[in-house]
Amino acid sequence: MVSTASTPPQKPAAAAPRRKVSRHRGEGQWAKGHYTPLNGNEQFKKDDDGLNVRTRIETIYSKAGFDSIDPNDLRGRMRWWGLYTQRKPGIDGGKTAILEPEELDDKYFMMRVRIDGGRLSTQQLRVIGEISQEFARGTADLTDRQNVQYHWIRIEDVPEIWRRLEAVGLSSTEACGDTPRVILGSPVAGIAEEEIIDGTPAIEEIYRRIVGNKDFSNLPRKFKSAVSGSPLLDVAHEINDIAFVGVEHPELGPGFDVWVGGGLSTNPKLGVRLGTWVSLDDVPDVYEGVISIFRDHGFRRLRTRARLKFLVADWGAEKFRQVLEDEYLLRKLHDGPAPEQPVERWRDHVGVHRQKDGRYYIGFAPRVGRVDGTILTKIAQLAEDHGSGRLRTTAEQKMIVLDITEDRVDSVVAALEALDLRVTPSPFRRGTMACTGIEYCKLAIVETKARAASLIDELERRLPEFEEPLTINLNGCPNACARIQVADIGLKGQLVLDDDGNQVEGYQVHLGGALGLEAGFGRKVRGLKVTSSELPDYVERVVRRFEAEREDGER
Ligand code: SF4
Repeated sequence: MVSTASTPPQKPAAAAPRRKVSRHRGEGQWAKGHYTPLNGNEQFKKDDDGLNVRTRIETIYSKAGFDSIDPNDLRGRMRWWGLYTQRKPGIDGGKTAILEPEELDDKYFMMRVRIDGGRLSTQQLRVIGEISQEFARGTADLTDRQNVQYHWIRIEDVPEIWRRLEAVGLSSTEACGDTPRVILGSPVAGIAEEEIIDGTPAIEEIYRRIVGNKDFSNLPRKFKSAVSGSPLLDVAHEINDIAFVGVEHPELGPGFDVWVGGGLSTNPKLGVRLGTWVSLDDVPDVYEGVISIFRDHGFRRLRTRARLKFLVADWGAEKFRQVLEDEYLLRKLHDGPAPEQPVERWRDHVGVHRQKDGRYYIGFAPRVGRVDGTILTKIAQLAEDHGSGRLRTTAEQKMIVLDITEDRVDSVVAALEALDLRVTPSPFRRGTMACTGIEYCKLAIVETKARAASLIDELERRLPEFEEPLTINLNGCPNACARIQVADIGLKGQLVLDDDGNQVEGYQVHLGGALGLEAGFGRKVRGLKVTSSELPDYVERVVRRFEAEREDGER
């Protein structure tokens, strides 16, 4: 039971004792009748739906304060509303694994605002910026899942933040937790000249049908999704639990190729194609079928094996499609083609591009997604001053202003550059991403955002002539929030030894990962670790050697 106003906060439900795995006992799938929770997470989800915590936040916690929060809500259900406690300042990375969770908890929250399809009006962006300034000490990071992330949120302010967000059609509903997370969408859906198909109606219908629906609010783990009809493959479809990728069927016309079972973190896996062609109208049904399979058949015994990718690996694409068709959709799907190789390597839409209606969209790059409330408010104003009411966030921690007439392009570019939002960034500014890291994240071992920002500056100074697309992704821990496994240079934060044998912040290096039709994971070179202070020297060496020894066309 969850606590109420009259009951004191209780200890989190203890995890079930660890038992030896046996095939006979199964993986905790509901479809096989395994309804007894096999770990603490499954227990708290069974005790009370995560979505129900909203009422307690509004009626109890926001009034009685942080210390009134039930621990099962604090470290569990609050994620269903996009809220995590942030890391207490001043605790170094060496203590991350050895301290109890409550010793790492600050009394402030990170709040994630979902921006499905990355679609924003200038009014929405202005509200996001105002909330940042009023309630989040100015913080507002752009994430690599098209969200905005605040820090320093007090529980007392959460109901008012929701009221303001929801008044303009935004929310933090299921922005975290074992839920259908934000639906990524092509940031240039509906406007790009080269678009195969606009997936926006499908994203809107999926949101209406699935998000906040208690039929889908207790999944085995998070469920990441993406829909893009762009030939640039601009939503990292390979690493989502489900992705719909625009293709042209020779007889049926434009539609979507379906991928399932992608995901990074530990045991990274690329999604696999089901080999089907799905029309725009059918996308929500197929999404609902796949998320239902995940809910019913997904593994719930171990958190580390609970993502859809493990079920897909166990069944294979053929069986997955057959179960989807025979038991969930009750009809056969068309066979369909694979997407084609994109003509460009950058997928972030940075720069000035013509829209299909003759106007222009302008993509720009802050450093590693770090903006703030003041900047976001200025971007909203700038867009409006130049006749645009629409913006988009990208899956690469960038933003785009839409609908600029030709005569206004130069002044928009100049205004953005004046805010240090680069429209023609160096490849280092353009291709470097970083996760939240030790500044706020309780799992982090090392600093990321500031380190990546200084790395960009240093590489721009040392390698001003370098122009090749290059991705450098930094994570603060072994998780994969900044997608290190699929970067040219992936840097996984950990403590390493310096030349004098002291433990210092550093990174395990992964080299040669990629997304796109040549997608693959970078190779972890045994023993190749760099300290944070050596990082610019190391990356410079890699880049210079690549330039000197690359063969024609080699990436
Ligand atoms: Fe935190 Fe690790 Fe994710 Fe970075 S990769 S945000 S440190 S959990």
